[in-house]
Amino acid sequence: KVRVRYAPSPTGHLHIGNARTALFNWLYARHNKGEFIIRIEDTDTARNVADGEQSQLDNLAWLGLDWDESPANPGAYGPYRQSERLEIYKPLVQELLDKGLAYKSYKTSEELTAEREAQIAAKQAPHYVYEYANMSEAEISTMQAEAEAKGLKPVVRFRVPMEKTYAWEDIVKGHIEIGANQIGGDWVIQKADGMPTYNFAVVVDDHLMEISHVLRGDDHVSNTPKQLMIYDAFEWEAPVFGHMTLIVNSETGKKLSKRDETILQFIEQYRNLGYLPEAMLNFIVMLGWAPVGTDEIFTKQQLVKIFDEQRLSKSPAKFDSKKLAWVNNQWIKKADEPRVFAQMVENLITAGVITAEELTTERMQWLRSVINIYKDGVSYTSEIVELVKPVFFEMPAADAIPASAKEWMEAETAKPALELFAKKLAEMPVFLSVDILQAIRAVQNELGIKGRALWNPLRIATTRQEDGPNLGDLIELLGREQAIANIQEFF
Ligand code: GLU
Repeated sequence: KVRVRYAPSPTGHLHIGNARTALFNWLYARHNKGEFIIRIEDTDTARNVADGEQSQLDNLAWLGLDWDESPANPGAYGPYRQSERLEIYKPLVQELLDKGLAYKSYKTSEELTAEREAQIAAKQAPHYVYEYANMSEAEISTMQAEAEAKGLKPVVRFRVPMEKTYAWEDIVKGHIEIGANQIGGDWVIQKADGMPTYNFAVVVDDHLMEISHVLRGDDHVSNTPKQLMIYDAFEWEAPVFGHMTLIVNSETGKKLSKRDETILQFIEQYRNLGYLPEAMLNFIVMLGWAPVGTDEIFTKQQLVKIFDEQRLSKSPAKFDSKKLAWVNNQWIKKADEPRVFAQMVENLITAGVITAEELTTERMQWLRSVINIYKDGVSYTSEIVELVKPVFFEMPAADAIPASAKEWMEAETAKPALELFAKKLAEMPVFLSVDILQAIRAVQNELGIKGRALWNPLRIATTRQEDGPNLGDLIELLGREQAIANIQEFF
């Protein structure tokens, strides 16, 4: 039975890399009719943040993921927070102590630092030096009793079988082998405060929760041999591992790091900008995975159907913001119009461009037409704010337009064209886009001006923009009075 998990440490908001890990595990579970579990790895208490857990889960749910077991909906394998499982880890640590596979170590951090510095000075790779080498049981007990008497609190270290090699068939990377002598010596399984370390707790939990497959980031490859040691020590069967490729910034080729400010990296940020969850999911799935064929737009349901872990890529996944903008635009065009409209109205309210109170039915209808002009061209919904605000809500004064626009307005032919156009607008029996375009053509014929010399002054005068959507549509939505008033500012 396939049972997979997403095991976040609640140290912050949902990062794009974590969202990818969650998504691939989720897809693997759903594709194989298995179970997807959320386990909170919160034993590093110093790094936990207050709303870390909730915000991770909210953002996963926003992306469209669901889960079968979690702290809030526990199954038969709880508790689902490591901090609530301490009583489970303790006897297991004791078991390893009793079997002589682990030991209590009282070295102080000063001693550890000195040891490390000496090794570096001697051009050795830093490694832990076993302090009880060649000592009898009695000698060890005496030494430990002395440390206890000094008030030192021990950590528990795993006694690494140095001669062994740990190997596994990685779903993504294929056969991997790492010598036990490459991991820096005996490592801590329980900290001085009694908390288990990640590499110990993760094994206990994955075993007890009957996790069948572990799909996680490339950065965990070096942890896997440590975890295999624990599986061996308890004679438990290890799950199948798969380590997903790095994500790199497509511009720089560098590994995506939280310090890279050229890329937004938290799901929340995209959510706030008005990216659609379907688009985010669609984009994230392409980070290190590709379906057969050239199609790039997929629904969640389609992905569940076609997901194939054999197609997880070995080469780094390129995070390309332009691609994300494109994917989101595809989804905006595909999404139900009322939904996109509602989201854009929300964006306009949040930005303070409109208030909910002023939106009468009539005004709402007008706004819908305004939004429909721009909607298919945006890469995320809040882009609507900067598109409509300067045209329909906070139009700059005539003399505040950019120099390039001023040049068009100063051309000799501009003024007569504006005057004639304003006159025609005033006289039109109905004020519809097609008729407005008709009027522009009439100005062209009567004055013999055409092309940009005609259109630019008209567009700049009415909308204050040098480019934009269909001018007839814009002027119709501005309304006769406003359009004429805008033009008159240039007389
Ligand atoms: N809590 C770990 C992390 O956030 C989970 C790693 C794993 O999947 O084993 O990276």
